[in-house]
Amino acid sequence: MISASDRPLPPTPLTALKGVGPAQAEKLAKLGLSSIQDVLFHLPARYQDRTRITPIGALRPGMDAVVEGIVAGADVVMGRRKSLLCRVQDGSGTLSLRFYYFSAALKASLQRGSHWRCYGEVRPGASGLEIYHPELVSLDSPLAAPVAQTLTPIYPATEGLSQQRLRALSEAALAWLDQGHSLTDWLPDELARHFELAPLHDALRLLHRPPPDVDLLALQEGRHWAQHRLAFEELLAHQLTMLRLRAQVRSRHAPVMPAPGELAEAFVRALPFPLTGAQARVAQEIAADLGQPKPMLRLVQGDVGAGKTVVAALAALQALEAGWQVALMAPTEILAEQHFMNFQRWFTPLGISVAWMAGKLKGKARDNQLQLIATGDAAMVVGTHALFQEQVRFNKLALAIIDEQHRFGVEQRLALRDKGSAGQFSPHQLIMTATPIPRTLAMSAYADLDTSILDELPPGRTPINTVLVSDSRREEVVERVRAGCAEGRQAYWVCTLIEESEQLQAQAAEVTWASLCDSLPELSIGLIHGRMKAPEKAEIMSAFKAGDLHLLVATTVIEVGVDVPNASLMIIENPERLGLAQLHQLRGRVGRGSAASHCVLLYHAPLSHLGRERLAIMRESTDGFEIAEKDLRLRGPGEVLGTRQTGLVQFRVADLVRDADLLPEVQTAAQQLMQAYPDRVQPLIDRWLSHGQQFAQV
Ligand code: ADP
Ligand code: MG
Repeated sequence: MISASDRPLPPTPLTALKGVGPAQAEKLAKLGLSSIQDVLFHLPARYQDRTRITPIGALRPGMDAVVEGIVAGADVVMGRRKSLLCRVQDGSGTLSLRFYYFSAALKASLQRGSHWRCYGEVRPGASGLEIYHPELVSLDSPLAAPVAQTLTPIYPATEGLSQQRLRALSEAALAWLDQGHSLTDWLPDELARHFELAPLHDALRLLHRPPPDVDLLALQEGRHWAQHRLAFEELLAHQLTMLRLRAQVRSRHAPVMPAPGELAEAFVRALPFPLTGAQARVAQEIAADLGQPKPMLRLVQGDVGAGKTVVAALAALQALEAGWQVALMAPTEILAEQHFMNFQRWFTPLGISVAWMAGKLKGKARDNQLQLIATGDAAMVVGTHALFQEQVRFNKLALAIIDEQHRFGVEQRLALRDKGSAGQFSPHQLIMTATPIPRTLAMSAYADLDTSILDELPPGRTPINTVLVSDSRREEVVERVRAGCAEGRQAYWVCTLIEESEQLQAQAAEVTWASLCDSLPELSIGLIHGRMKAPEKAEIMSAFKAGDLHLLVATTVIEVGVDVPNASLMIIENPERLGLAQLHQLRGRVGRGSAASHCVLLYHAPLSHLGRERLAIMRESTDGFEIAEKDLRLRGPGEVLGTRQTGLVQFRVADLVRDADLLPEVQTAAQQLMQAYPDRVQPLIDRWLSHGQQFAQV
């Protein structure tokens, strides 16, 4: 197993490298490079081939080339911007080197007759072929370096560090390895053999200095064995943090709740419909978890409209009947309010009072609700992320339900875990998402959760017919709305804007609203956007629900969860601006009743090729999982989960799309490692994840 010499060594300070003094080391530490290990794991983003010298006569525009030649003259030329123009010759032709930023020293050094090696991208210029700001090496000194023997690594741009400096650092770090120092390879031999993974040193050396005959295409595409080796280890480290997190949570105690009883029965009896098979199955999976003395960690995935709210209510009733408190958190105020109204309607007749908490709730009303929550008088609490706030103290929280989890980051998900962990118990956690999560993402981002899938829509829904219409035909679309509403149907008109600003979005929606009011004077048209006050929004929503409004002009605030079954027509303006998962969510606002529903994607012509391809997916599929898989391929994981800002893990080498096929192996390896080599878990995690990403202490 693990020998004494395998213990994690403290990282070797950079001052152990030739040419790095304390001041340098301090500066590098500020840039995230504190140890030799850090330098070795700071991997090139791409490579250049500088192993061959190209005769000037053979240069072509667009080439990255190494050229050697003699300076024929260097002059400052005025042009639109002042520049230093230096002509270099090698007998096969003349090349110009152009510098927009230059020192007197540079000008002086480029004297006529001096001999240089230059590297850069060749472009057509005013004076024939030119290289702007080439990298230069003087060939006049007897110490002139030979032409590169390996491909030249280009490191991710780091403010305050030149490529030359980064290369010198990695050179010194590799030399340090050559002197017999070593980085511990934490991957056990047994696993490395089984999964056919190369030794760590070989992989690092190859990636920092690939030999000229390397398979460059494989390197560029991230398919090289050396990248494969590191990607595997990186995914393994992530998997290990998630599993460890899970193990930590599961090692705590949670209240054991008896199987659903009278309350749940009364609730189901009062519903105007029977549960779907999928709802019954998932409710049972949850009920079994809640009967265990360990915190439940369960993710319920169900496409838009699958009926997750009922499942959440059943889980809540099991906890409530056992005398505990339940919190339900939704990502937007509109959605939270809708849940609040539903739960009030469902639970009040059962004698359960429901509290409400949102950021906009102020003053006395707020104090009131805080009081109800703290005393436990309100056993059911519904709200937005305001539930995280410190002032919110629960009385005996035993079940936390998070709706539409993709809107929250991993950290937030973990933060709510601790809300209830006062005393000896940790709360059970139920997470619900309508963004179908492609399997590969689920396997990494949610590896700490058990999964239930609501794979059946309630009966009686008619599929949504989706059409693409260019905005040059906007008038026809307006006529369609007129006709639809005349038949007693209701419609959404959704305005999209890329800007994050709620104000701009609200303005755009107001303009659209005014123009639709002009065109459709016989309809009553509502407007809803994120800048409105909560009561105002609630009023509009309930007017729309009650059928008092024919048409609702909205920003994407209605994206998640809003439920008005009579609405059967949706127009989405500029759908090309949104992600497919988001479009699927929006579209899911219709098709909830028995009338045939339509969704018009009113795009702005001309569409890019990618834009056309993406919207075609929307037209052809109403299966959220299929859409998410395709979107993942087209746009990458951050965009799909919508968590670019909220902390979806950023990988250094691995790529969830490219390396998806590694994940099953990584999962197996993680299990084996936890069991047979528990001492290696922490060192592996430390090597790949910064402390902020480890989620260990939350
Ligand atoms: P989502 O999974 O998108 O959160 P909701 O919980 O909002 O879906 O449910 C969508 C609609 O389906 C609601 O109007 C809800 O009342 C209705 N619904 C839920 N379960 C059933 C069922 N078993 N049969 C018929 N309608 C149902
Ligand atoms: Mg929902």
